[in-house]
Amino acid sequence: MNILFIGPPGSGKGTQSKRLQDRFGLVHLSTGDMFREAIARQTPVGMKAKGFMDRGEYVPDSVVIDLIRDRLSAPDCKRGFILDGFPRTEPQAEALDGLLSGMGLKLDAIFQFDIAKQVLVERLSSRRVCRTCNQTVSLDQVKQAIEKCQNSTPNTCDFYQRSDDAPEVVGRRIEVYETQTAPIVGFYSRKPGFLKVDADQNQDTVYGILERALGPV
Ligand code: AMP
Repeated sequence: MNILFIGPPGSGKGTQSKRLQDRFGLVHLSTGDMFREAIARQTPVGMKAKGFMDRGEYVPDSVVIDLIRDRLSAPDCKRGFILDGFPRTEPQAEALDGLLSGMGLKLDAIFQFDIAKQVLVERLSSRRVCRTCNQTVSLDQVKQAIEKCQNSTPNTCDFYQRSDDAPEVVGRRIEVYETQTAPIVGFYSRKPGFLKVDADQNQDTVYGILERALGPV
């Protein structure tokens, strides 16, 4: 099963990806995570992406498309994947179509995460990520999350604010989404398996909607 999540930053795509990944045994393909890893390892791709990400801009299409082409051809993707954060532009959507048809694959479900802009600003500004297990929580849940953090002991759990979640960058990221990504939603809304989801609900409710739409495993 191959799934596409499309929606603005902070709409819950990453959180739902992690839940569906475990439930359906899928590979979570987050281009944002791939870039953050590349930056941490100081690879050439990471060096190219960093400045764009720090400013809340998109990384050039050619860089993103090369990255996802390599990743999609890895053997683990054969068991199915969730695309989270790709494609974000028209050329990326076209490239994805070409890549999938070249591999004899298709998207089985396309979920649009629909959410009000004001909610996004609040969510992104209070979002914290664990360096150890990569879970995302809001500021008021950090203490509780540290106690429960599964992949580390409470002492090593380390929450931080992503530099692009800083208030001065958040507005630009939402603006870039509206100008460059929102236009491709129309293209996907005409494809089979498309569903618009009200993402301004609690994460369990959203997860229930996705799980029901995907049907029994
Ligand atoms: P995310 O973690 O999905 O919010 O992505 C963080 C940042 O990585 C974005 O703001 C972009 O700078 C970059 N990025 C991730 N995916 C893409 C993409 N498909 N196209 C261009 N830039 C991307």
